[in-house]
Amino acid sequence: MDFWTDYITDVKQRDLYRAPVRYEPLDAVHVESQGRRYLLLATNNYLGLTHSLAVKRAAMTAIEQYGTGSGGARLTTGSHPEYEKLEQQLAIFKGTEAALVFNTGYMANVGTISAVVNKADVIFSDELNHASIIDGCRLSKGQTVVYRHTKMDHLAELLEKTPCVGQRLIVTDGVFSMDGDIAPLDKIVLLAEQYQAIVMVDDAHAVGVLGRGGRGTVDYFGLHGRVQIQVGTLSKSLAAEGGYVAGSQALIRYLVNKARSFIFSTALSPGTVAAGLAALEELQAYPELVDQLKSNADYMRTTLVSAGLRIDGAITPILPIMVGEAAVAVEMAQQLKQRGLIVSAIRPPTVMPGTSRLRLTVSAVHDKADLVRATEIIIAVSKGLHIIS
Ligand code: PMP
Repeated sequence: MDFWTDYITDVKQRDLYRAPVRYEPLDAVHVESQGRRYLLLATNNYLGLTHSLAVKRAAMTAIEQYGTGSGGARLTTGSHPEYEKLEQQLAIFKGTEAALVFNTGYMANVGTISAVVNKADVIFSDELNHASIIDGCRLSKGQTVVYRHTKMDHLAELLEKTPCVGQRLIVTDGVFSMDGDIAPLDKIVLLAEQYQAIVMVDDAHAVGVLGRGGRGTVDYFGLHGRVQIQVGTLSKSLAAEGGYVAGSQALIRYLVNKARSFIFSTALSPGTVAAGLAALEELQAYPELVDQLKSNADYMRTTLVSAGLRIDGAITPILPIMVGEAAVAVEMAQQLKQRGLIVSAIRPPTVMPGTSRLRLTVSAVHDKADLVRATEIIIAVSKGLHIIS
């Protein structure tokens, strides 16, 4: 009995089969495949800093100085000097006492939630939170209750009626990764203060995007000092890989001693950490990148919505074009690719059944002519597929 093959046959029949795609990056927003050049509208590299000269040089210098791998976990072997510099800068940027770098954003969420939440505690989690938050909740010893996406009356009701003899934790994405909308963090904080809950926000898609100079949702809503745990990632606007938690000194010391994904995994390479640090410095030196990103996203959203496409979300560079069925999303992505655009078809299990979408992301380094051409192609393909008339 070959269960694995049966599974693959089944997902293929339901248009849910997935496989990694191979492209050769040409720059931050163009790739090449089989001799053809494509425009990438599917990257989280919101500021294009992966190809900044300063960031590439910083990574190369760190590798020359310290070597490629870190050689072990940070508590035993691998805490090279780049880490300390990055953590200090992240804390200053986020306006917190301290910060701790994990190997990925995924590991930051899983490690933090499972470390912070104990048996008597209750987690209140938005239903559209990222998989890494969901997995952190599953790994924790506490109870998890899920509130309807951004619905504050539901969160209030659950806070009121769920018995809790320990600590309450409210956890949310800052910007929702597949929907592009912004969590009502101001209202969440008010509820948290009413019910003495801790607030944790995952700003993976908010740093470089929202708030002054791209500082994220806490800054966007003016909530400094009122959100206890801020998670982020180096893998999107910050042009590298790695995750981080920013918060109080006490929280960071606690995580160093309790978060298993931090303790039991080999540290990031010096090159990666130096790239993240250099990208953070670039972001602070050129805050106009954040304005350019917003202007590109606004152009794309306004043009596509005027043409009749349904795009949920807010002012962020994540534009989900809602098409419903997985097969339509796959067909649309294929037709866009034939015309030189790479856009991701997002289907279950990443999103709920019946809510498949094209997830289009915009970068600060997309040039206007490319965006104009891309909108024309997307509108033409949508008409051909009768998504709009
Ligand atoms: N949180 C959110 C909201 C994300 O979208 C992602 C990445 N897709 C992560 C966490 C995980 O971050 P990383 O890719 O650095 O593991």
